Amino acid sequence: KTSTTITTRRNIRHFFEFKEVLGTGAFSEVILARDLNTDQLVAIKCIKRKALKGKEEALHNEISVLKKLKHPNIVELLDTFEDDQFVYLIMELVTGGELFDRIVAKGSYTERDASKLIKQIMEAVDYMHDQGIVHRDLKPENLLYESPDEDSIIKVSDFGLSKGIDSRMMMTACGTPGYVAPEVLAQKPYGKEVDIWSIGVISYILLCGYQPFFDENDSNLFAMILKGDYTFDSPYWDDISESAKDFIRHVMCLSVEERYTCKEALKHPWISGNTALDKSLD
Ligand code: ADP
Ligand code: MG
Repeated sequence: KTSTTITTRRNIRHFFEFKEVLGTGAFSEVILARDLNTDQLVAIKCIKRKALKGKEEALHNEISVLKKLKHPNIVELLDTFEDDQFVYLIMELVTGGELFDRIVAKGSYTERDASKLIKQIMEAVDYMHDQGIVHRDLKPENLLYESPDEDSIIKVSDFGLSKGIDSRMMMTACGTPGYVAPEVLAQKPYGKEVDIWSIGVISYILLCGYQPFFDENDSNLFAMILKGDYTFDSPYWDDISESAKDFIRHVMCLSVEERYTCKEALKHPWISGNTALDKSLD
């Protein structure tokens, strides 16, 4: 056996009782589990070692950084285990479900609610960027509500670990290129800016309830993203403030140099000020 040791070789079944499946992905499964010592419930992400294919060193480095991240809007990585088949990430359990499902249920958000949500996501991503971590896969399925409450905080999850997997492969696997930045599709070297673009796509969807880039045909969709070809269509955007549109133009901005950083985005009046409209008041 040539497998590198990523974490200590303790048998996970001696520490956790596995319960039901919380989510399934292309290379992993997330399972609800109970800590046998403390009775605390956790979420365990089980990543197939086969999917890592020699990228275990990268995962090891990434894990050591992720363990240090502590932010109210980031799902905490508590511990890690491994065996011959899997690498296990023991995570803080959140119970409010995916942002994706709330968008589907609500249709769209008021500007004020969207602004509050985007602010939390920007703060989490700003914190990660300061530590040199790029998420690379921000989308509503990876943004989880802490609790089922209407005013629950949101947490970023599923980050950093996709380094080893190339973006086109990841998109084929997930079937959702809609959130990917143009420079990624153009196969240019890319950085932190890709996360800002994705937050722009999420902001757009929150406000109107549909995606900025959509085409049944993937190569048409790629072409639209590469050109940054999106519009604020009438009538859906007619009642949305100029400030919201200005924010989105700076965040979903084709030019990587001109695109806002998290810190710039956090200073925009739509986030920090009072320009986000409360639809129910007008
Ligand atoms: P993948 O790489 O397969 O996308 P994720 O980490 O995004 O893996 O997890 C898949 C799904 O599992 C999420 O979309 C969410 O529904 C659920 N999930 C992930 N982490 C947690 C958690 N900490 N608490 C509760 N559910 C979670
Ligand atoms: Mg995910």
